[in-house]
Amino acid sequence: MDFFYRSSIQGQIVMTQKLQNYIDGEWVVPETQNYIEVTNPANSEVLGSAPDSTTKDVDSAVQAAKAAFKEWRQTPVLTRVRYLHRLKELCEERFEEISAICVKEAGKTLDEARGEIRRAIESIEFSFSVPSLMAGFKVEDISSSIDETAERQPLGVFAAITPFNFPFMVPLWFLPTAIACGNTYIMKPSPQTPLSMQILFEMLDEIGLPEGVVNLVHGGVESANALMEHPDIVGISFVGSSQVGKIIYTKSTSHGKRVQVQGGAKNYLAVFPDANLDAAVSNILGSAYGCAGQRCLAGSVVVAVGDVYDEFVSKLKDKASNLVVGNGLDNSSQMGSIISEASKTRILGLIEQGVKEGADLILDGREHEIAKVEGGAFLGPSIFTDVKRGSMLSREEIFGPVLSIMRAPDFDTAVEIINESRYGNAASIFTNNGGYAREFKYQVDAGNIGINIGVAAPSASFPFGGKKDSFFGDLHGQGDDSVRFFTDHKIVIERWP
Ligand code: NAD
Repeated sequence: MDFFYRSSIQGQIVMTQKLQNYIDGEWVVPETQNYIEVTNPANSEVLGSAPDSTTKDVDSAVQAAKAAFKEWRQTPVLTRVRYLHRLKELCEERFEEISAICVKEAGKTLDEARGEIRRAIESIEFSFSVPSLMAGFKVEDISSSIDETAERQPLGVFAAITPFNFPFMVPLWFLPTAIACGNTYIMKPSPQTPLSMQILFEMLDEIGLPEGVVNLVHGGVESANALMEHPDIVGISFVGSSQVGKIIYTKSTSHGKRVQVQGGAKNYLAVFPDANLDAAVSNILGSAYGCAGQRCLAGSVVVAVGDVYDEFVSKLKDKASNLVVGNGLDNSSQMGSIISEASKTRILGLIEQGVKEGADLILDGREHEIAKVEGGAFLGPSIFTDVKRGSMLSREEIFGPVLSIMRAPDFDTAVEIINESRYGNAASIFTNNGGYAREFKYQVDAGNIGINIGVAAPSASFPFGGKKDSFFGDLHGQGDDSVRFFTDHKIVIERWP
């Protein structure tokens, strides 16, 4: 059996082989005998299989990263960043190819994938500012003839455990800044969508980074556990569900690591009667059904305030029922597929449960016509109205194209409903009233707030917010927080008699 992977030539994937890990500057056959099949969720085509790496495979990566750290941290920061400039150029050159692979492995539309790759490149660009952001500070004469300095230093080997839904972008929230700061890195992508990382590591190989600075270990729970338990890993960045995130946070901190866990979500969108309704509807449509609802920033519940309810529901239903659902590579598709049959079955169960708990299913995604596809895990957009406070639909992350609509008589009740959620990832308000907008951002307990914005996605130079069960840790991904996560202060107090 061949063990190789060649990603693609001019946008065509050329492989149905077993993926390899990338350790110490080489593609290596892992020790594991177990492989996880990777399929295109839009047509069930088998795209390859990813190794379910073992503790020993992880240890090889850690040893390589540990050995590389000493020289890498001594490499001038401007030189470190220069490698990332080259990475950005390669991403631009292979932009369309990476986008197509994202579509194939994750089921999203080509435009959504292009948006993802653009955002990923922005994270690489952010890392170019590390030479400034790593600067420390100094106070002369803090005491008589004594100077005191705080220097930012890298810490060693970091790792990321990432989700399926943004297979190229999420890993790049972390890796560029981590290595620009002088750390070495291990990436463990989702076993459902490992292919885009294969391309990233082909590019990282091409830019000629010293061996061991970046390493790729494919796998599932065993490899994640091995990363969390390994004594030579100093920190873990996790993005995924809150359920798994809690395990990651507890286990990694119990092994003495610094951890940032970006978890699941239940995002609320409040619509006020004074909002520009057409703009709000179109924003909310994108928020709820973009990436088939599989975004941690997806709008999941609309709270329609006062008498805007009926007009809003009618306009939204009209637009949602006309969405073209189909294979993401088809340019006419406005919504792609669910990540897997298993995930579709889970969402169908939640729709059933929503009906049973008495909400009104005014648009049934199970009946939606799917354009020109055979097979595939497709589901059209669903809308539930008259969703009650405390119901499953108002509480649980569905992570699919299902939007719930609730009523609120006034501003205070809307905020009360939103703050009942155990999650706190994002919330948006649609209004033309500056007073409402100001109070909303002040009172709502969510980490990312949108004001007339449907998807409140922080750009790369801002920390990615998240509160309550949507985030565990203190320093967030992206922005200045990420530089602080990947470095620590060393305090030097000096006297020269
Ligand atoms: P997931 O939690 O199932 O998996 C995430 C990662 O954890 C994967 O790499 C997986 O292999 C690993 N994993 C799974 N079970 C594990 C276990 N028991 N022990 C150790 N590791 C384990 O998440 P997913 O289904 O891939 O992604 C969807 C979730 O991610 C949603 O909840 C979504 O809201 C969330 N998400 C959050 C953000 C954010 O920034 N807050 C961004 C994207 C996605």
